[in-house]
Amino acid sequence: MSLDEKNPAYHPESLPLPGDTRPAKSSSALKSFRKAILPIFLLTQAFYYFGLDETIGLTGRGDGGRGLDAVGAEADGGLCYQHEPLWPKTDFYKELDKVWKSDAFKDQAVEWLGGAVRVETESYDGMDEVGKDGRWHKFQKFHDYLEKSYPLVHKHLKLDKVNTYGLVFEWTGSDSSLKPLLLTGHQDVVPVEKSTYDAWIHPPFSGHYDGTYIWGRGSIDDKSGTIGIMSAVESLLRANKDYTPKRTIVLAFGMDEEVSGFKGAAHIAKYLEDTYTPKFGSSPFGLLVDEGGGYTKAYGKPIAALGTGEKGYGDVRMTVKTLGGHSSVPPDHTGIGLLSLLVAHLEANPHKANLTRSNPFYSTLTCAAEYAPDVNTVLRKLIKASAKSNKALGLLETFLDSRGEYRSLVKTTQAVDLIGGGIKVNALPETAFAVINHRINVASSTEELRQRITSIVEEKAKELNLTLSSFGKDVLTHSGVGHVELTEAFDKWLEPSPLTPTTKSTNGWKVLSGTIKGAYASRLKESDDDDEDDEIITSPSIMTGNTDTKYYWNLTDQIYRYNHLTEGDMYTYSGIHSVNEALKAVAFVNNVRFFGGLMLNVDSAEL
Ligand SMILES: [Zn+2]
Repeated sequence: MSLDEKNPAYHPESLPLPGDTRPAKSSSALKSFRKAILPIFLLTQAFYYFGLDETIGLTGRGDGGRGLDAVGAEADGGLCYQHEPLWPKTDFYKELDKVWKSDAFKDQAVEWLGGAVRVETESYDGMDEVGKDGRWHKFQKFHDYLEKSYPLVHKHLKLDKVNTYGLVFEWTGSDSSLKPLLLTGHQDVVPVEKSTYDAWIHPPFSGHYDGTYIWGRGSIDDKSGTIGIMSAVESLLRANKDYTPKRTIVLAFGMDEEVSGFKGAAHIAKYLEDTYTPKFGSSPFGLLVDEGGGYTKAYGKPIAALGTGEKGYGDVRMTVKTLGGHSSVPPDHTGIGLLSLLVAHLEANPHKANLTRSNPFYSTLTCAAEYAPDVNTVLRKLIKASAKSNKALGLLETFLDSRGEYRSLVKTTQAVDLIGGGIKVNALPETAFAVINHRINVASSTEELRQRITSIVEEKAKELNLTLSSFGKDVLTHSGVGHVELTEAFDKWLEPSPLTPTTKSTNGWKVLSGTIKGAYASRLKESDDDDEDDEIITSPSIMTGNTDTKYYWNLTDQIYRYNHLTEGDMYTYSGIHSVNEALKAVAFVNNVRFFGGLMLNVDSAEL
């Protein structure tokens, strides 16, 4: 979970100071790193752990009144219903797949992705508006590259540029009554720190191909997605220049996902709502696939983990204001001392775990219990029992909460990440502050977070004889030794995302998970050490970070975060957002095949 923190190349360059409204540079990079790879990692780790653990010490809790209606998976025929593989059966497709599997196409794919890596598209925290900040101009070079590399896409699809550098392509379908498919990704990449250049095996913007891997920043995150989608369309049109999809396909690529998407996806979302809502009503898209999870072999079974929910986000600033004075006659606690006591009280009262059956991680567990042969027997029984028994669910929750690596998936986390106060060694500090970062449980909300932190701080503030105001409201008003104030820090507060429905009858889930199964079963295998098992299980999973999809909630309830990649295809585990990001060429080709197959499959699917 903190692999990037272990990496010496990964140090925050600057911390925000009081009054600075920008989050630390490291936080967005870290968040995106986690978002991109954590679901796979956790899945693997979960199985790893569960397989080893022969004796689960379970001291359970009561029923907790959480109800049994959240998932209804049992009623759907199993804890983790699996759809049939879905792969186009047309002659057109057969010809196309021959092309995709040819050496010539692999060479072409290497050139496409490598070329895209060579066009540096770093985004930075604190970039000013497009038009004011010259650093956005580099995206024009990327657009030029796309235009040169994908002539058929530019000839056959309608292109609109949103806020100058956001890209929206429409491939207009022949049946205008069908809700479009939306495929999204981002053009920007996390900056490479100059001091780490020497640590790269091949330079970070070389796009070098060593015969196996394509090297460089963005080769995975997220040019493998953005370029993968563009390559799929171009190759469809190369195979048949008259090909027109029945269902409209829209491609949307922001240019600042790594710094929260304020200038890119936020504008694109509005454009898409304005353009497609009049035609298709609210929720105008049938299916949305953005970057996110991937697949992995875990405890005897390949499993694809599709992000179907994201935790929420909130930074709280806690400020303690006290009278200043000379340090030679101090009170029992200075402002810094009072702040420390409040921080200690918060840490003594972590958020409680709340594992609901609608939590996507719960679905990951049930899919594992159902299909992964090497999951620990006791745990498998517990997970299966928890589908119907609240007591078993409580035991499972207790177990997960007792393990640091899973705790964050079943509760709101709090982390005091910034602190400051005092200006002179012989003067009592008049102000001291801390900022507490929260990732909000999918079963909770920003409002619940505000209420809870207020009540925890209130307990201690009373004891310390402090007045308290919390998010603009006075809570404790008697006069005291000082004042504590809770406010929203930064401008990144976010509710947990809506959870994507994935029942047996959910059409988006059916076509997407069928496509993944089809793509996996027919995948291009690189060597004979490739897994013999051609069946892959598809499972919902949770994202602990946020993608551009946070702006797209109004576009459809069928939002999935997934790239058809596996960690074994990436050069090193810490490669994303760090040194030595590299992706196997064969994996990139398989990702192109996945997107191409999806474009064809949605034509004959209901959405
Ligand atoms: Zn990304």
